Amino acid sequence: METLVVDHPLVTHKLTALRDIRTDSPTFRRLTDELVTLLAYEATRDVKTTEVTVNTPLAQAHGLRLARPAPLVVPILRAGLGMLDGMTRLLPTAEVGFLGMIRDEGTLKAQTYATRLPEDLSGRQCFVLDPMLATGGTLAAALSLLFDRGVLDVTAICLLAAPEGLSRLERTFAGSGHPIKVVTAALDERLNENGYIVPGLGDAGDRLYGVV
Ligand code: URA
Repeated sequence: METLVVDHPLVTHKLTALRDIRTDSPTFRRLTDELVTLLAYEATRDVKTTEVTVNTPLAQAHGLRLARPAPLVVPILRAGLGMLDGMTRLLPTAEVGFLGMIRDEGTLKAQTYATRLPEDLSGRQCFVLDPMLATGGTLAAALSLLFDRGVLDVTAICLLAAPEGLSRLERTFAGSGHPIKVVTAALDERLNENGYIVPGLGDAGDRLYGVV
């Protein structure tokens, strides 16, 4: 498994504003959108392409085009939805599937409550959007479901990650042969006793959409 912490002043600037308790939901949503586009630029570095030749007004030029089938983008509901526009802005031809997962706040275990994905995902390249890689339970469950359906490789884009979550993914998929990459704006210190990332930014879903 590969982890990429995107070390860029614009990324850190936006993340710092997201962390700030004074940032309201409309600003939080806008900053998330902008931050994801920056993370997506790094996350798509290995996107599959095919070589093509085009005619310019002067001559032939060799270049690349995104390969078919198109990449699949999967936001994990609810908070991952706040990352979707930022991702599809960069990959407008991607297909989008949905996974509804909720973390039981008592057991911290992930439960799937909605799935909207093509049945056969053989050979697909997949980008999973999950803002907070905390215990790693939700992401591990999501990745297992995708690999069971034939997904080739997964790049997870997370605003923040905790060491515990990265270790959980490493343990779960060690020796599985599935290529996994995690792209994040920061690797924070730890989880607290409630499974929240510290210093973190609080509950990403609540900060994006309010407490419902
Ligand atoms: N989910 C969140 O929204 N925040 C955390 O810190 C951990 C999980």
